[in-house]
Amino acid sequence: MEDLAASVKNLRKKYREIFKISAEEIQKRIDEIKPDGAGDIFDNYPANSPGMLWQKSVLKMFDEDICREIFRKWNEILAYRKEFSCIGCGTCCRLACSEFSSDELKIKAQHGDNFANQFLSVFIPYNSKEEAREIYPEYIEMLEKNKEDKVYFYHCPKINDCCRCTDYNNRPQICRDFPDNPLTLLPESCGFAPWKREVEPIALMLHSMLEIIEYYKEHINANFDRT
Ligand code: SF4
Ligand code: SF4
Repeated sequence: MEDLAASVKNLRKKYREIFKISAEEIQKRIDEIKPDGAGDIFDNYPANSPGMLWQKSVLKMFDEDICREIFRKWNEILAYRKEFSCIGCGTCCRLACSEFSSDELKIKAQHGDNFANQFLSVFIPYNSKEEAREIYPEYIEMLEKNKEDKVYFYHCPKINDCCRCTDYNNRPQICRDFPDNPLTLLPESCGFAPWKREVEPIALMLHSMLEIIEYYKEHINANFDRT
């Protein structure tokens, strides 16, 4: 069976391919509404010129058409997740990762970051990476192979030695919703792994489209600010 590092590498390769296809599709949609004589979508057009009206139409198309469709599909993916269930292996309770240290998360929480707040209400940091390695060695090995150093490891003190949550009925939303994104790395044994495998291609496509749209919006709006 493919190891975790290889599957992450494959996922990145797949993402690059999907990203290219999404970029071509979006550019096609933009070109379909391009007025005669207009240049590039990122050009700096005079106020109320056909070029600027085109840029505004493109932003409207992103918000009212493409993004709505992306969110509709994303919600379908999340709704489909309900067909799968947790098998209680306890891995996600015993090992949670963040690119932020506990102190950084505290600052984020103080500034109103709801995820940071919930995360800190559940997880406490491991003292060392070696402790985390005992829980999910393949994951730590994959991080090391990819030289991803800035990862902090956490665990929940409410999981018992039988991998059962000792406060199950009061578990917070962050636990009930996990995994809320099919692009999250999951252990092969996770009850949601088949869901992830099934919806991953479409999730990658939606993610790439959002990333591309964000880029277009940022650069078109930067032109408006200069006009
Ligand atoms: S509160 Fe329960 S479900 Fe949530 S991480 Fe802790 S042990 Fe797991
Ligand atoms: S890793 Fe998956 S199966 Fe295991 S406890 Fe978490 S959600 Fe449940």
